Amino acid sequence: MRLLLVWLAALLLTASAEPAPAPPHYALRAAFDESGRLEADVTITLPPGTREKEFLLSRRFVLGGVQVSPGTRLASAEPVESPVEGLVRYRFAAAPGASGPMTIRLLYAGPINPADDAGVRPLRPEGFELFIDHMWFPVGADIQTRFTLDAEMDGLDPDLVVVAQGEVTRTPTGVRIRRDYIDIDVPMVAMRGLQRAEAPGVEFFARDLATRLSSFYIRHSEGAARYFQAQYGPMDQVVRMAVVWRERSMAYARTGYTVFSEGGRSAPDYPESGAARHAAHEIAHAWWKLASPITDDFWLVESAAEYAAIRYVEAALGPDEAERMIAEKRTAAADAGPVMGHGRPNRVQLYQKGPLLLVELEQRIGRPAMDRLMTRMAREPVHTTQIFMGLLTEIAGAEAAAAFERALHS
Ligand SMILES: [Zn+2]
Repeated sequence: MRLLLVWLAALLLTASAEPAPAPPHYALRAAFDESGRLEADVTITLPPGTREKEFLLSRRFVLGGVQVSPGTRLASAEPVESPVEGLVRYRFAAAPGASGPMTIRLLYAGPINPADDAGVRPLRPEGFELFIDHMWFPVGADIQTRFTLDAEMDGLDPDLVVVAQGEVTRTPTGVRIRRDYIDIDVPMVAMRGLQRAEAPGVEFFARDLATRLSSFYIRHSEGAARYFQAQYGPMDQVVRMAVVWRERSMAYARTGYTVFSEGGRSAPDYPESGAARHAAHEIAHAWWKLASPITDDFWLVESAAEYAAIRYVEAALGPDEAERMIAEKRTAAADAGPVMGHGRPNRVQLYQKGPLLLVELEQRIGRPAMDRLMTRMAREPVHTTQIFMGLLTEIAGAEAAAAFERALHS
């Protein structure tokens, strides 16, 4: 009897607990040869109930095969030039009445290096730097499809040091990456001569840990991780940070993963505040990453991270440094035009004007209210301007919210 009751209780629990639908999952096999040719075999499992899904893949790859689950069909394959040039958009659709998860397997091959690499060549003499901009794996056409990942990559020389998300296991000629949390990308740095350092919350890789720049990055990524966690709550992942060397200074962050470039920053007079702001900006993306990159709302990724970075600089290096950065943004943003109202904001609107509007909002509503607002927002599962306005209204009143909304549009 007792056993039966336990069993019944277990049954009831099972019945009442709605399991969360499994997120999309990518099983990716990639092999690189010496010439930089990629051969890929990617199986994507979509959540049950998916009726239609579109993916983008660079046209430099030749499709060798498509396999789909029963009831799924490849409805169209069209060349598209957006959000970058030279893509094919594949649309998959479920037949009426088809149930069960939609799975799609794409086999394709081609050069990993695109003709136009926009300053970040995927394969360079020192190794690989792969990320979503290279369009080398099937990217959800909304550019915000997040998935778990099981990747096996082959054709990596034994002396390449691999930096990637999740559980990373090096094999003699490749790497296995298992990521049990969702993200939009399959990012990886695999380079010769990377050294590794550890600090609380951060794993750091650079070709020389003893340089001035490396020491700034290590100090301030650790410092920023501590500072933001005290405000927003714990980070879900240790952040792996790799400093690569290329001309283009662009950096980017994914969950638990950040890439910096030495480009333009190795000079002996490069200021510590620059590295501090930069490290803090990328660490801040642990919280500020949830708005769509192809809409107006993207200011909630870049402007929010930049505002957070200025606050860190103020805490770490003093208010004068922060004031100097704010003054520079005032000059740079003078003719920026509205942040919102025209789709994804441009760079000046995202990195100069957007953070300034947040600084001005802080001045209007006061720092305690601002901190409550940003902390509440950071913990929201989805980031849209509408959600931000709702919280702002709740915390500081309708008038403050209306004034901020006007500022975003002017
Ligand atoms: Zn950013």
